[in-house]
Amino acid sequence: MARVNEHYAKLQAGYLFPEIGRRVRAFVEANGGEVIRLGIGDVTEPLAPVIVDALKAAADEMGTAEGFRGYGPENGYDFLLDAIREHDYGSRGVDVAADEIFVSDGSKQDSGNIQEIFGTTCKVAVSDPVYPVYVDTNVMAGRTGEADADGRYAGILYLPATEANGFAPEPPSEAVDLAYLCSPNNPTGSVMSKELLGRWVAWAREVGAVLVFDAAYDAFIQSPELPRSIFEIDGARECAIEMRSFSKRAGFTGVRCAYTTIPKELEGTAADGSRVSIRDLWSRRHATKFNSVPYVIQRAAEAVFSPEGRKQTAEQVAFYMENARRVREGLGAAGFTVFGGDNAPYIWMRTPDGASSWDFFDRLLSETRVVGTPGSGFGPAGEGYFRISAFNSRENVDEAIARIGRAFRALGTGS
Ligand SMILES: *Cc1c(COP(=O)(O)O)cnc(C)c1O
Repeated sequence: MARVNEHYAKLQAGYLFPEIGRRVRAFVEANGGEVIRLGIGDVTEPLAPVIVDALKAAADEMGTAEGFRGYGPENGYDFLLDAIREHDYGSRGVDVAADEIFVSDGSKQDSGNIQEIFGTTCKVAVSDPVYPVYVDTNVMAGRTGEADADGRYAGILYLPATEANGFAPEPPSEAVDLAYLCSPNNPTGSVMSKELLGRWVAWAREVGAVLVFDAAYDAFIQSPELPRSIFEIDGARECAIEMRSFSKRAGFTGVRCAYTTIPKELEGTAADGSRVSIRDLWSRRHATKFNSVPYVIQRAAEAVFSPEGRKQTAEQVAFYMENARRVREGLGAAGFTVFGGDNAPYIWMRTPDGASSWDFFDRLLSETRVVGTPGSGFGPAGEGYFRISAFNSRENVDEAIARIGRAFRALGTGS
């Protein structure tokens, strides 16, 4: 029989969301009725009309002899690359060439696949708590040892994101090869300032690290002075890879389109010490393992950048951010200590009375029928915290916050 990749055996069972599902099902079976889910990291608003029109028009085009397209260009159609360059980069004073952008079917895939083009002995750093994809894909690739009792894998450098550092860790004192950054952050809702990102870029250049910058939530940034792209930082072209997605900004979680940007200046080393272009390696990988995003989907992504597209998607983001404001203020009024939610669609709250994340999950479910996400599911430093998502209808958000207010107001302050 074929030997399997035994690194997979090190993975902790896909614990978080299946366990949430199990507990919610058990609760509903025992008690009946409905629950309000503020635990999901998926959007809830329908696609903007301009995007639906673009999908339909492109589908019609594909049904004509002149408009039919087969395999597309590996990196994406020029119409989409040009729109990305103008609106996501040019508007922020950043110059990125079309052949530095790789259109894909998702940032989950890109952030999971990027480690493939680096050596198996590369040392990896992540924040704790963290989006699980960065860690698990490095485990699968054999870049770690076993996990300890807290769930930390041997060989990975974990950087605690804490109240003390505003849930945005500083660069470590030791050198690593790859550091994953996510800003605005899932799960903590924190955002990295230009100054902090500048320190990360300076550190990466000094130690020769590559920063993998996940900007899936950049559209939720409200303060104009906060960086949306790592390439707004001088020197980032020599040390950073950036990932952006249409999933959260434009409701593409089920449509699927994203992109990864790798500047030509970014280099790694070969065993003989010679320098190798990271962009060229990713290009080779992309062309070998991926056959381009469907034409209709790329037309839909292009529509996000049209004047109506920008207006309609900005309205959706504003809708979610108003939800976030209501959650943040409602939880604060109920006596909870809350973080995030002002430049990100996630509110990160301290559990009351030092409760564990899962104990609070159970208490919230039984007393209010509201479902959130235990912070410990994103890493050991998330223990004692809880994530509430702003992705839901206004009605559900208001109802959930009203219930939490009634159940917990007796907590008073400082819980
Ligand atoms: C949702 C999310 C993404 C986007 O993934 P897609 O595959 O593009 O849908 C990327 N990174 C983080 C941290 C996310 O939460």
